[in-house]
Amino acid sequence: MLRFICDEMLLRLGKWLRAAGYDTDMAAAGIADRALLAQAKGEGRILLTRDRKISEMKGADGRVLLLHGNQLETWVLQLAGELRPDWLYRPFSRRLRCNSELLPGPARGAFVPAYVQEEHHAVYHCPRCSRSYWHGGHVQRMRCQLERWHTMYPP
Ligand SMILES: [Zn+2]
Repeated sequence: MLRFICDEMLLRLGKWLRAAGYDTDMAAAGIADRALLAQAKGEGRILLTRDRKISEMKGADGRVLLLHGNQLETWVLQLAGELRPDWLYRPFSRRLRCNSELLPGPARGAFVPAYVQEEHHAVYHCPRCSRSYWHGGHVQRMRCQLERWHTMYPP
């Protein structure tokens, strides 16, 4: 299964890969290129970068994907040509902010508003942050985007 790590230029793309359900780490601020490549290797991740220098480093072959441009749509197009991710792999199974896999049910002792229960939104929690979530309108809008990419670039 594809796993990723995104450099600082590609955080927006990383957020969408998380939304699709892919295990996606973000490069620590200021991390050295060599350390970033070593992390990608050690964790079995594809390093997505805008930095040509990293892609030309020894050992980068097959481990680093150099992306061009500054637009999300351009990056998605390039990803489709190289790795063909499934944009509906496991949608919204991870927390966008911390990459943890969400677990079913609210966190222990969490407050869940009555309307969430009344409208039967599925409730999840993040085991790392102990916060609860439910899928509202924001997720619905993001899902439309994922479905669009899934149609444009079928896996
Ligand atoms: Zn979390």
